[in-house]
Amino acid sequence: MGGTFDPIHYGHLVTAEEALVQFNLDGVVFMPTGAPARKTHQVVTSAEHRYLMTVIATASNPDFTVSRLEVDRPGITYTVDTVLALRDAHGPEAELFFITGADAVLDIVTWKDSERLVDACTFIAATRPGHDLAAFDSLPIPAGLRVERMEVPALAISSTDIRSRMASRRPVRYLLPEAVASYARKNRLYGKGD
Ligand code: NAP
Repeated sequence: MGGTFDPIHYGHLVTAEEALVQFNLDGVVFMPTGAPARKTHQVVTSAEHRYLMTVIATASNPDFTVSRLEVDRPGITYTVDTVLALRDAHGPEAELFFITGADAVLDIVTWKDSERLVDACTFIAATRPGHDLAAFDSLPIPAGLRVERMEVPALAISSTDIRSRMASRRPVRYLLPEAVASYARKNRLYGKGD
């Protein structure tokens, strides 16, 4: 499951659990991006903080693990490098799924070497309620790329909103695990906190 996770919230956790059940997965590996390809001109919290918040959020679930693959890889993070590395590690028989937000998947044709992803994995695109699903029907994707859609009501929660709430000291309780919010406050990731 790829994402910037700045910070991770209940929408991400519900998405992972939903995918686990719907697609009968053996487990979900959370993959915080190192240096997100689309955010080179934008301030993003350090990869180490985002990785640690993801570890905190997933610690109690035996089906969830967190990978350092992208955090430790130097340079800009490209999903193709990650998926091909996972394919090498797990062998040709493993069925791999790459779960992420639908808005990111809608852009996939512009991703580096996206045609190499065709045989490597199936994408699971998680949408927020009210998301324009019609956009998917005309999605300009590389031929043969498998994309499954999954609507997740809890994705009404967004990292952008949480960052803005924390910066202006508005409540974030019930939007993300309390331990993650405490970690963010302690390290002053999104303003001074409360
Ligand atoms: P983003 O633009 O920050 O997010 C797009 C939308 O998807 C946001 O609404 C976001 O909500 C949601 N989202 C992101 N990750 C999600 C997840 N795991 N589950 C549910 N919703 C999610 O996207 P991003 O985080 O930069 O990129 C998403 C993934 O696509 C990453 O793994 C990234 O490396 C990959 N990607 C690869 C390339 C490339 O290879 N060239 C280019 C772009 C993205 P929140 O803000 O609330 O998370």
